[in-house]
Amino acid sequence: MSVYTQPGKDGSVVTFKPRYEHFIGGQWVAPVKGQYFEDVTPVTGQAFTEVGRGTAEDIEAALDAAWAAAPSWNASTPTQRAIMLNKIADRMEENLELIAVAETWDNGKPVRETLNADIPLAIDHFRYFAGAIRAQEGHLSQLDEDTVAYHFHEPLGVVGQIIPWNFPILMAVWKLAPALAAGNCVVLKPAEQTPASILVLMELIQDLVPDGVVNIVNGFGVECGKPLASNKRIRKIAFTGETTTGRLIMQYASENIIPVTLELGGKSPNIFFEDVAQQKDGFYDKALEGFAFFALNSGEVCTCPSRALIQESIYDQFLADGIDRVSKIVAGNPLDTDTMIGAQASTDQLEKVLSYLDIGKKEGAKVLIGGERAELEGDLAGGYYVQPTVFEGTNNMRIFQEEIFGPVLSVAKFGSYDDAISIANDTLYGLGAGVWARSGNTAYRAGRAIQSGRVWVNQYHSYPAHSAFGGYKSSGIGRENHLMMLDHYQQTKNMLVSY
Ligand code: NAD
Repeated sequence: MSVYTQPGKDGSVVTFKPRYEHFIGGQWVAPVKGQYFEDVTPVTGQAFTEVGRGTAEDIEAALDAAWAAAPSWNASTPTQRAIMLNKIADRMEENLELIAVAETWDNGKPVRETLNADIPLAIDHFRYFAGAIRAQEGHLSQLDEDTVAYHFHEPLGVVGQIIPWNFPILMAVWKLAPALAAGNCVVLKPAEQTPASILVLMELIQDLVPDGVVNIVNGFGVECGKPLASNKRIRKIAFTGETTTGRLIMQYASENIIPVTLELGGKSPNIFFEDVAQQKDGFYDKALEGFAFFALNSGEVCTCPSRALIQESIYDQFLADGIDRVSKIVAGNPLDTDTMIGAQASTDQLEKVLSYLDIGKKEGAKVLIGGERAELEGDLAGGYYVQPTVFEGTNNMRIFQEEIFGPVLSVAKFGSYDDAISIANDTLYGLGAGVWARSGNTAYRAGRAIQSGRVWVNQYHSYPAHSAFGGYKSSGIGRENHLMMLDHYQQTKNMLVSY
């Protein structure tokens, strides 16, 4: 076990600047209106830096810079782009601890996750798209004796990207890596709750990126996000956030007839079929771990397995063992490498989760464990902590239907296979799902029947760069990760040539 020192104190691996500007055209640029907002760490509830508060004027400046860089970057070769992406990955690897602690401080998630999952995944993402773009080929086909058809992949030009606060760096990289690999210039707006860690990353890699190719403008949704998403000078908008905001983004995009990728909310089922409990072996143990995964990242994961469905015949025993597993989750100081769940990312988020604890109790769900705000001591007393909570109820309750985005699990039982599928699909969302079964047949059938873009079978919460990720139904449009992501950031030129 070790505990990282709080940023800014003696011996810490990262010190934040007292103030951050926008990053535009390769320079740190003050906001046109001269306004700043505080960035508060959820670890202690204290402000630790201030960040430029962007408006439409800053977005225009960033788009000027991006379009100035576009002719050269759009025409760069896949090899040149791959070299840059690999250098960024190397630089991140050299500074892994610094980036991980910055991310933990900004967002409140445990450093064991940022060190071992979020930042390594982000690094791998750059490497994956560096390889992918070099391997991509155009197509040439002979249509008849005299005519040849060429298909070229071309960048879109300049694209806009807007991200949420739950995985600030990973979400930024999921968007930046494929867009840059495909040859686009980018204007990215981070979430107002967690702007600083991305700016720390930008400081580390700025010498590797040609001026204007990556531009970061911070600010609030309507004030800064809308002028970007609705701008006539972007050729695509990629958005991750709430389903309600996604609807607006789609409306803005429709005005300009540009492609839109939406990665939105979820209410993921995690189904435990009866043969899981055939024996209390390693498989059973892994399933219990999967049951407790709802608390990962303090539940602030769009694919959070927030509805556990357990087959009637094993319900009592499996649930009792699952609760026992939840009771062993180590919650507390995110800078401690033993901590498994840290703080909620903001006061708004804390209030939202607490309100759902109330809603669950009022609608008659039974609290099996947790159910309250977690009170920590010392420096952490002002932080935003919630106890991992398990409710027992029915799928028509609000706590089963609405995205809470906290460490809150709602559990129900099912009788037959058909019941399981029907409850699993009875939500607006379709982002992630878990299926736990020893029978390959049951697992396969359930995996295919669930209306969800990602199904984990006998595992949960892995996010490899080469696996397509995205939602069915109200969880979104388009995919992230995987080779197919390049298609989202390119357009196809078809050229018919007669010889
Ligand atoms: P949010 O929609 O409130 O905000 C997301 C981003 O949109 C922020 O940068 C915000 O400033 C900006 N924004 C808000 N209003 C805007 C507007 N009118 N125009 C343009 N931009 C605007 O979401 P959030 O609370 O930051 O994030 C949590 C949500 O994100 C959850 O619903 C979660 O499920 C979802 N999420 C989805 C995925 C996925 O891949 N599907 C991944 C992570 C998070």
